[in-house]
Amino acid sequence: MIIVKVTGQMQQLRFDNRFVAELPGDPSADPRPRQVLGACWSPARPTPVPAPRLLAHSPEVAALVGLTPADVAAPAFAEVFAGNGLLPGMVPFAACYGGHQFGQWAGQLGDGRAITLGEAIGPGGERWELQLKGAGPTPYSRHADGRAVLRSSLREFLCSEAMHHLGVPTTRALSLVATGEPVIRDMFYDGNPRAEPGAVVCRVAPSFIRFGNFEILAARGDGALLARLVDFTIARDFPELEGEGEPRRAAWFAEVCARTALMVAHWMRVGFVHGVMNTDNMSILGLTIDYGPYGWVDNFDPDWTPNTTDAGGRRYRFGHQPQVAHWNLACLANALIGAFATTAPLEAGLERYAQVFTAESRRMTAAKLGLTRFEDEDGELARELYGLMQRAEVDMTLLFRGLALLDPEAPALDPLRPAFYSEARLAEHEAAFGQWLGRYAARLRADDLAPERRRATMDAANPRFVPRNYLAQQAIDAAEAGDLSVLHRLMDVLRRPYDEQPAHADLAGRRPDWARHRAGCSMLSCSS
Ligand code: AMP
Ligand code: MG
Repeated sequence: MIIVKVTGQMQQLRFDNRFVAELPGDPSADPRPRQVLGACWSPARPTPVPAPRLLAHSPEVAALVGLTPADVAAPAFAEVFAGNGLLPGMVPFAACYGGHQFGQWAGQLGDGRAITLGEAIGPGGERWELQLKGAGPTPYSRHADGRAVLRSSLREFLCSEAMHHLGVPTTRALSLVATGEPVIRDMFYDGNPRAEPGAVVCRVAPSFIRFGNFEILAARGDGALLARLVDFTIARDFPELEGEGEPRRAAWFAEVCARTALMVAHWMRVGFVHGVMNTDNMSILGLTIDYGPYGWVDNFDPDWTPNTTDAGGRRYRFGHQPQVAHWNLACLANALIGAFATTAPLEAGLERYAQVFTAESRRMTAAKLGLTRFEDEDGELARELYGLMQRAEVDMTLLFRGLALLDPEAPALDPLRPAFYSEARLAEHEAAFGQWLGRYAARLRADDLAPERRRATMDAANPRFVPRNYLAQQAIDAAEAGDLSVLHRLMDVLRRPYDEQPAHADLAGRRPDWARHRAGCSMLSCSS
């Protein structure tokens, strides 16, 4: 591994690397898969790749970190963010964490293919941990290769930036770099492995600490290190919390619960299904993290899960996400028992989750429906709408966007017609929709919101563009064939997801029929 010679701002990047500086590391430099005890991280070097090529980057994230367009254009950028070299000040490591996967304790997991390069301090003074995904094996790789394929890397890159612009708390992505090295994957675990192009994403967040970082220490009975990690996390990532000792830890847990609630409320607002809400995929900052077999709801269906591995139990289905987040927080609370004198603050935190989730989803539902505020009766109005949308096979994004066009004085179904997937279902449910629209229009008339204000409120809560599964797949197909224009156009449009952008109306339509049952468009596997 070489220290890369760079010029420009890249040379000026400042790293303070508090995680490795303040928490104990693995004394062994053995790169082989193994259990790592008494440590929060292991030294890990990215494995170089033959031919790094920058496929896409986020100019917004580059600016946050303190990189200029010239830095991004320099050949050294692709080298560093493919894992072929380090900048001065980088101290690469893989974090040790465990997790509950599909409801079962899975023991040590850890960064098996993610390697943090360092914690950069951006020009605004904020901390940005730069983490490569797909950068080669670490002591946590178990039986896998530490690599990632282009299709899953592109999906992570695209969706994390789209989520940010949608206003959903998320990790960000700086770059997507092709490695020039094939990666063998059996996409559907059906005995058909094939070589796919490899890629590395550099993802960026103030912290990549997960619930599982705490759980692994509790599972091993390492109470001293658990307490240290708690206090480190509070000091580094929650400096605004006041007090000290147990009251501060209590305030911290409540804050983690509140942030998680806000994140999930946003997922439900925009129609995002994470797909693998294991506790190792839950960020302590309440950020959406680890984009794998996620999906976007096209026709509204609370029972839909994009993840083929989840198809049996549907644990991670769209409508179950709020309960799963609560269950995951309960796992975290269990792990934290040793850091508290009593369980009362942990119970209070879980209660806070429920309060914040309820308050936020009411607030967001009111905005989606264009109501000044959410009254208790509106719960019934919303539930009926969701029930109808499910039965009549209605596109979630198009339906809500269309509702803003409704005239409360003369409610008609017309603006909503483009949201229906099936003429037959539309015919079957047209009368019921008509009745619902009548009640909704009456509710709007009783509200005191001016029509322009109402439309603006609704259009700010209901995106026109989301990275629908089939759109991401089209970007992947084109990128694999060497054409990046589809991805770049999609990224551009998704920078302003609430704007009408009439020139890009083709990206706002219903999922086409061909995509209904196509791999990557409706079903995704964990193979990545
Ligand atoms: P995920 O389901 O992506 O959250 O991954 C669960 C665990 O498997 C994490 O510890 C990952 O680091 C690890 N993992 C997933 N894919 C790979 C891979 N290709 N190589 C090494 N570890 C992996
Ligand atoms: Mg993960």
